[in-house]
Formats: sequence, structure tokens, C-alpha cells
Amino acid sequence: MTRMLTCREASELISQRFERRLSWRERFGLRLHLLICDACTRFARQMRWLQAAARRFGLKYAGEESAARLPEVARRRIGEALERSR
Ligand SMILES: [Zn+2]
Repeated sequence: MTRMLTCREASELISQRFERRLSWRERFGLRLHLLICDACTRFARQMRWLQAAARRFGLKYAGEESAARLPEVARRRIGEALERSR
């Protein structure tokens, strides 16, 4: 049975999708959650922006390596944002 993700689970998936490939079930659950949740939609948008910004600064993203290449400052900010949202 598919159940609705909590905001905490959704935000974890949102940050993880830059670090690993999500399963279809995870992607489906996340998509469903984003349809009904403004807060997580905003968070997803911020994460996309952050990734695009990092790319503009010349970092190359290649699948699973992306997390390792995120600047330390950005990783810390993401962590703090997640903590605040819990
Ligand atoms: Zn949510």
C-alpha cells in the first residue's frame, strides 16, 4: 500500500535526489506529496536553485558524485534548513 509521505520524509527525499537515484516508488511518493504540500514545494524549488547556482559556479554534476562536490558551506546550509523545518 502506498501511504502519503510526511514532510520530513519528503524533505529527506528532496535532498537525497541530488545524491542518489531515487526508486520509482520514492519519486512517485514525493511527487504526490509535492502536489498537496506548499512547504515542501518551496523547499524543492530552493534545492533546485541551489543546484543550479552551484553549477553556474563551475561545479560539474555527474549523478552520484554531486553530493561530494557540493561546497561545504552549501551542505551546511542545507543541513541547517532541514533542521529548522523539522
Ligand atoms: Zn510537505
